[in-house]
Amino acid sequence: MPSWADIALALIVGPVLWLAGAVFFDVVHWLLHVMLRSRFTVLRALAWPHAVHHRWIDRELRVNWELQRANVACHIVPEFLTQLVFTGAMALIFPLPAIGVVLLLQCAAFAYVLSCRGLDPNHREVDWLDAHRPHWMPFPAYHALHHVHPDAYYSAYTKLVDWMVGAGLPLPELRCVVRGPDGAFARAFADALLRAGVASLDTGPDARAEGADVLVLLDPDEDVIGRVEALASATRRERLPPEVWALREAADDAVSRHYQCDVRVHYRVLSVPDARSLGPEAARTAAERTLFWLRRGMHFVPSEGGFEAFRAWRRFRSSEPQRPGAAAPARHRAELATAM
Ligand SMILES: [Zn+2]
Ligand SMILES: [Zn+2]
Repeated sequence: MPSWADIALALIVGPVLWLAGAVFFDVVHWLLHVMLRSRFTVLRALAWPHAVHHRWIDRELRVNWELQRANVACHIVPEFLTQLVFTGAMALIFPLPAIGVVLLLQCAAFAYVLSCRGLDPNHREVDWLDAHRPHWMPFPAYHALHHVHPDAYYSAYTKLVDWMVGAGLPLPELRCVVRGPDGAFARAFADALLRAGVASLDTGPDARAEGADVLVLLDPDEDVIGRVEALASATRRERLPPEVWALREAADDAVSRHYQCDVRVHYRVLSVPDARSLGPEAARTAAERTLFWLRRGMHFVPSEGGFEAFRAWRRFRSSEPQRPGAAAPARHRAELATAM
């Protein structure tokens, strides 16, 4: 009989191991997509069952009902088996009561997903997707983006894997419009985006945002509220919320704090102190750091290194969010899309 101490330990260690098993599947998930992109037929064939999951909920976030059973066989069951393999390996290290708790959690999650035939909160048809908030956990809106952009947003329970492999944004699929004055940082950032292979890049003070996925505002004096409100209004009936990346020189920014939790737009702060006075070398370094954190899907994107970046983030987090008067209050984009 396990002692009370064994049971208490199992109740602490079990959920941690369960989460570790979920991260293990995220790694496998990432590998499956690497294999799907491989030039070797055999690797693509091995990963083919996961492609069925993406055909079941396609890039338009529509459920293809004829693939319902195939999704169970090709995705839900293999995911469960992968986690069991992880738990089996952990049984060689951890005491059996903890392994029992992990198995219980995994079986409960598997039974739940089966009971809703795969249509768990991460897998629903979406007419108007909400922007996801800054958080270490990927919420359903985040996984929905994986179905729109299958080569990014791999994480399901924690964003750890996307942070590790730099899959927090689908850069090669993004059409970017960069507005702002010419300057060392603007040139370095445009170069960095092109090297990252963005789908298109339109630059200059008159660059137009229509049809773009990302509006980059590099003028620190830009009327951010006006730009965000115009874009949110113009895209309110589109399936996906747009991205706005706004350069800010001061880290304490109450309006930006509000927009980061606004469902109408993925709003990211490019924190670049003294952006206007950077020389070419400093601008290049700042642009590379900015891109590094953007790849990791950060909403607050520091351009400084080490402790300075952490301090800037702390300053930003300490400012109280303030909703601009022009910003429409909405819990979901569907409310705005269906409003007259
Ligand atoms: Zn999925
Ligand atoms: Zn996938």
